[in-house]
Amino acid sequence: MKEFDTIAAVATSIGEGGISIIRVSGNDALKITKKIFVGKNDRKLDNIKSYTMRYGFIVDCDGNKIDEVIISFMKGPRSFTAEDTIEINCHGGVVVTNNILNEVIRAGARLAEPGEFTKRAFLNGRIDLSQAEAVIDIIRAKTEISARSALQQSEGIISKEINELRAHLLGIIASIEATVDYPEDELEEVTADIATRKSSNILMEINRLLQSADEGKILREGITTTLVGKPNVGKSSLLNTILKETRAIVTDVPGTTRDIIEEYINFKGIPIKLIDTAGIRETEDVVERIGVEKSRQMIEMADLVLFVLDNSRPIDEEDKEIFEYIKPKNYLVIINKIDLDKEMDISELDIEKSRIIKTSIKGEVGIDKIKQRIEEMFFGGKIDYSDVYVTNNRHKQALIRAKESMRHAIDALSVTLAIDLASIDLRDAWRHLGEITGDTLEEDIIDKIFAEFCLGK
Ligand code: GDP
Ligand code: ZN
Repeated sequence: MKEFDTIAAVATSIGEGGISIIRVSGNDALKITKKIFVGKNDRKLDNIKSYTMRYGFIVDCDGNKIDEVIISFMKGPRSFTAEDTIEINCHGGVVVTNNILNEVIRAGARLAEPGEFTKRAFLNGRIDLSQAEAVIDIIRAKTEISARSALQQSEGIISKEINELRAHLLGIIASIEATVDYPEDELEEVTADIATRKSSNILMEINRLLQSADEGKILREGITTTLVGKPNVGKSSLLNTILKETRAIVTDVPGTTRDIIEEYINFKGIPIKLIDTAGIRETEDVVERIGVEKSRQMIEMADLVLFVLDNSRPIDEEDKEIFEYIKPKNYLVIINKIDLDKEMDISELDIEKSRIIKTSIKGEVGIDKIKQRIEEMFFGGKIDYSDVYVTNNRHKQALIRAKESMRHAIDALSVTLAIDLASIDLRDAWRHLGEITGDTLEEDIIDKIFAEFCLGK
């Protein structure tokens, strides 16, 4: 156990509520609390057992009562931070909560930095970095499945895979170094063969994890689905119809670009972030017109593009241009307004037939088909929670670097003379994988990760 000072912060969100919790963690947690706590019937905290509670009052230096509280004590290492931890449950008012925090600080604790409790859990070795990051993912989860996958990650599902890969890597490195150090054994060629095979297996595993990252991003953020198409084809009508029929999870996400509308919806547990371009402009009663450039940017960001066309208007140059941007993406083409006379020849665009859906959004025809196709396109319509998904972009980037190093290593192994070079690349891969669990990460990067956390966590 490392030695740290004792920190304190309000762990609940600040505002009116049933209760607030002030968390105190560190060697002096109990000593500090004793100074400001008066138990019912003068019962002292001296012999408090771990995982028990006491009822009483927090008092200021003059002995004036500040609030009626319940204190719980968790003795390290069996606590969130792995340190002695006190939690003070008080009434959930802003003033009492702050007053109690002030007394705790006055009695000798330091105000915690954002994420510092979780950082302690990491520095004390109770959890690794990927587990710590999952803690914040649980708090920020926007959908049920992102919360569920974050919880799995907090239990170490990624760490386990990474640690196994790193152990295998160390094994290969050891055998190569033994060969380099004792060349008289003349085992070199055999070792290079075995090392190549083992390295290829590890590369395969890294690729498998990387492949899960696309779906992992979706688990975390939802399927970013962008509606594109010329003005008046029916994009907003489609968005509104889907929203009406489906439970909206979050509405009106603030802080996004002013001229797009974002909505979270839930298709059988798969979160979908629907983005309609230029929504605001419509409400401002200005002719809706998204430039092709703007559409291109939206398409770039999307996991799925819904390209809406109007059956009663011929395909024109703008449609063709938009379609060129969509082609390399996951897309569906919605031919809308089939209740009107057909003026369009869809064969002017080179579209796979399975991607075309005909609708009359106004007449509520074909909407279910859109939903069904989206479900089929992602996770095969169903999420398998026993699979490991890489949901964190930082992890993905580290895996990409590890993959590069593995490639170099395998190249080097194919030239027997370069076997010692391969061991350098394998060490690089081992280090990059360790960035995920935090074993091989520089302190300032670790600090930056925890600085993103909320206060009191
Ligand atoms: P956007 O500019 O692409 O967002 O298009 P809107 O959703 O605002 O729709 C433009 C117009 O087309 C509105 O008057 C809608 O009522 C109408 N509209 C939408 N879907 C259909 C449809 O399936 N059939 C017909 N006839 N009109 C539709
Ligand atoms: Zn619109």
